[in-house]
Amino acid sequence: MRKQETALVIHGGAGFICDQEIYRVSLGVVLSSGKERLLAGDSALDVVEHCVKMLEDDPVFNAGRGSVLNDKGRVEMDAAIMDGKDMSAGAVAAVSNIRNPVCLARKVMADGRHILLIGEGAMEFAEASGVAMENDEYFITDARVQQWEATVKNGGIALDHSEVSRERKLGTVGAVALDSMGNVAATTSTGGLVNKKFGRVGDSPIIGAGIFADNGTCAVSCTGIGEHILRISLAKMVSDYMLIGGCSLKEAARETIEYFRRRIGGDGGFIAVGNDGEIAFEHTTPQMIYGYADRFGEVGIFDRN
Ligand code: ASP
Repeated sequence: MRKQETALVIHGGAGFICDQEIYRVSLGVVLSSGKERLLAGDSALDVVEHCVKMLEDDPVFNAGRGSVLNDKGRVEMDAAIMDGKDMSAGAVAAVSNIRNPVCLARKVMADGRHILLIGEGAMEFAEASGVAMENDEYFITDARVQQWEATVKNGGIALDHSEVSRERKLGTVGAVALDSMGNVAATTSTGGLVNKKFGRVGDSPIIGAGIFADNGTCAVSCTGIGEHILRISLAKMVSDYMLIGGCSLKEAARETIEYFRRRIGGDGGFIAVGNDGEIAFEHTTPQMIYGYADRFGEVGIFDRN
């Protein structure tokens, strides 16, 4: 059997990014590690989990360590993972003290009884499943405290990369991949919006909104204001344009972002990989942090649209 070409795309959030250089190194390390695993024959599902776990551990991103703070000055995180092979999925919302929310989402998926666990129930499940936990100090960085104080002073709720929080160059993370067996998978993980209400859940852990994967079409991971993305199930819309509309991945991505802009006036974007290895990135925000290792062996960061 001929080996399928592989492809990987990762993102680190959308918005106003004033210093791209800070992300180049981080994304480069994650991309080459993920690419290596794909070439070694690892599944898309394992690779997207691996990449997002690395991004969660890096405090420059708004996920895992370095997550933004809510209106109580605390970290509450959302994450999801989806396998395009059988369309199984797992997600957690409003969880604290979980070192890698993406791994907890994967455990929910493996457990198989439910798709989405939240708050206290998710915490109980986390303890039983043995995922790594950390105390508050691990998550709350000085940069996040300063960003939160500035946002509170402005009386707002902000996208991590908004003009208000422009001094803090950090963002939600995600990954999509196609593996050598022809399977696609997606993950998204976030600390949410700066100064969000305690208990608020965004698009990231909602299947179809912040994440979607189907071997029949594509895998998608979104970033941006969850209240905008949730209203049109942004991730699934890309897949629907392919499945129902007969579009290629790139056409589907363009149609979706245009609809998002026109109907919602939405702030956000997404990365996507098609089941043929085609890749796409779209955003309505001034910038989006992303990198890719495409099916032709080309690797790039911030340099394509
Ligand atoms: N989509 C995330 C949320 O609304 C935030 C982000 O992508 O930066 O929770």
